[in-house]
Amino acid sequence: DTLTDSFKNAIGKIRFHDDEKALKKATAELKKSLLKADVHHKVVKDLISSVELETKKNGVGKDNFLKALQDKLTDILTIEGAPKGFTFASKPPTVVLMIGLQGSGKTTTTGKLAYFLKEQKKKKVLVVAADLQRLAAVEQLRQITSQIDVDLVADENAKPTEIVKRGLKKAEDELYDVVLIDTAGRLAIDDELMDELAEVKKVANPDELFYVADAMTGQDAVRTAQTFKDKIGITGVILTKFDGDSKGGVALGLTQQVGVPLRFIGAGEKMPDLEQFIPDRIVSRLMGAGDVESLAEKAAAAIDPKEAKRMTQKIKKGQFNFNDFLDQMEQMKKLGSMKSIMGMIPGMGNMAKQIGDMDLENSDEIKMIKAMVSSMTPKERENPDLLNNTRKRRLAAGSGLSQMQVNRQLKQFKSAAKMAKKMSGKGGMKQMQDMMK
Ligand code: GDP
Ligand code: MG
Repeated sequence: DTLTDSFKNAIGKIRFHDDEKALKKATAELKKSLLKADVHHKVVKDLISSVELETKKNGVGKDNFLKALQDKLTDILTIEGAPKGFTFASKPPTVVLMIGLQGSGKTTTTGKLAYFLKEQKKKKVLVVAADLQRLAAVEQLRQITSQIDVDLVADENAKPTEIVKRGLKKAEDELYDVVLIDTAGRLAIDDELMDELAEVKKVANPDELFYVADAMTGQDAVRTAQTFKDKIGITGVILTKFDGDSKGGVALGLTQQVGVPLRFIGAGEKMPDLEQFIPDRIVSRLMGAGDVESLAEKAAAAIDPKEAKRMTQKIKKGQFNFNDFLDQMEQMKKLGSMKSIMGMIPGMGNMAKQIGDMDLENSDEIKMIKAMVSSMTPKERENPDLLNNTRKRRLAAGSGLSQMQVNRQLKQFKSAAKMAKKMSGKGGMKQMQDMMK
């Protein structure tokens, strides 16, 4: 958010052509906010001087400045020839070793990655629990994999290398596409950890070594990534906890600083809260222009097109009912947080900020609606118009809501259905975007 704001501000400063003073002002301010966001000073210096030079070369103006900024950002986030997001080995299974310090988010991210590969890429995924330092770690992975319905190889009594061997054998025999190996971490880098990882690496012979780092640790994340790169070798970095009050700037410099591409970003504790880091898409989002491609991919994976069409028809006819509402809520969960979805829609960046970290699913409103709906008869769910005063009293008693709350929820639901009907008409989406500007 802060980065997007500072880019917008800088671009806004340049109003006239050939105004070098404005350009200076814009870049000076940009520099300040990038440093404040914890982007490394060398990266900032490089970015600013290149953008200035490029803009001047092509003539000072909004468009040229924007283009120079966009190009340079893409440039510093890219390593020529290096993979972006997730890439598959030419011969399956693709073996991925997840490494990093304790608490960085390895186990959670292993789950998220498995979920991403299963839901979006339609792959057969096997997770291997090779963190045998703490028994709780295996149990944590058991819970995560059962929740997302992905297979797990675990054995509290085996050695990490043994369990990895077993996992690889199972993957060969049963034709898995991807094997994700979760490993043990330490609070700080120590030789014991490095030795264990080196051994696991030898046995696993991984296609990818993802270093998982906590974005909130700022430049420390870069330094530890560098150490892991030197000692073990890494092919990519995943930054987690981007939803917290991390300054975010570390993501801009990391690729150049470590010489290894940032591959994913984790922004939340739930399984869908993982984004591929694809430089031109990220830059588009940073410039406040949204990321329709990522949104479309997520939606395509989560939404059944036939079902979507049926729903659109219902909405258009004003027949959207409480069953549909609950179905839609379930589908929305697969898309990830509301905030990240909004950030992907062009022109909705501001709304993303207003929504903040709102947890739609656990909001009081949704809880009330769910309580109310569970007290409804199937007929009432299909046709909210049936709800007369007697029925409303029954609903209130059954759901533990006051009659006033029931009335309010029903009224809101009706007006939301009306709004949806309007939005689904011609130009509806555009109207909404204009409204949010
Ligand atoms: P590990 O020790 O590296 O395996 O770390 P865990 O996966 O157990 O994660 C440590 C804590 O960080 C857990 O409470 C996770 O829920 C939390 N966590 C992991 N990734 C994220 C993220 O992207 N956002 C937030 N807010 N929390 C996260
Ligand atoms: Mg763990």
